[in-house]
Amino acid sequence: MKLDVSDALAHPGREYHFSGSQAIADQEVSGDIVRIDDCAVEGTFMSDEDGNISVRGKLRTIAHAPCANCLEDASADIENEFDEVFRRGGDPEDIEIFAYEGHEIPMDRLVMSYAVMALPIRFLCREDCPGFEYRDPDVAPVEPGIQYPFAGLQQLLENNEEV
Ligand SMILES: [Zn+2]
Repeated sequence: MKLDVSDALAHPGREYHFSGSQAIADQEVSGDIVRIDDCAVEGTFMSDEDGNISVRGKLRTIAHAPCANCLEDASADIENEFDEVFRRGGDPEDIEIFAYEGHEIPMDRLVMSYAVMALPIRFLCREDCPGFEYRDPDVAPVEPGIQYPFAGLQQLLENNEEV
C-alpha cells in the first residue's frame, strides 16, 4: 500500500484522507508463527513546508496463531492507532525513522510494525481454554487397575475420614 502525496506536497498544511488494505507477511513471535490477515487501514496525511509527511490513522485486522494452552487454532482482533512522520529523502534503510522519496509513501513497514505491536502476548482459542488435559471429551478412559501416583494418598485420606 502506497500513499500518493503529490497533492499534499503542493498544498502543505492541507489534510488528505486515505484508506486501503495492506498485506503483512507471517511473523514469528516467541517461536510461534502468527498469520495476520490483510490490514484495513485508514487515516489522514499532511505535508509540512519541507515535504515531511505526517501520517495518522488506525488499522484493524485479525491475527491467527496456535492457542497457548491447547495448540488449537486461535485468533485475535487487532487494532492500533499510529501517528508518524515520513521524512522526505530520508534513508529508507534507517529503521529508526520512516522515510520516503519522490511522491509515494510506502505504508508496509508502518502497518506491519503497528500490527505486530498490538499482538496479544498469548493467543487463546477461548478465554477459559483449560489446556491439553480437558481438550478432548472423547479421550480414552484410563484402564482400571492403573495406579495413579496419588491414589494411595487419596485412599489414606478417605480412610482417615472414616476414623
Ligand atoms: Zn485452547
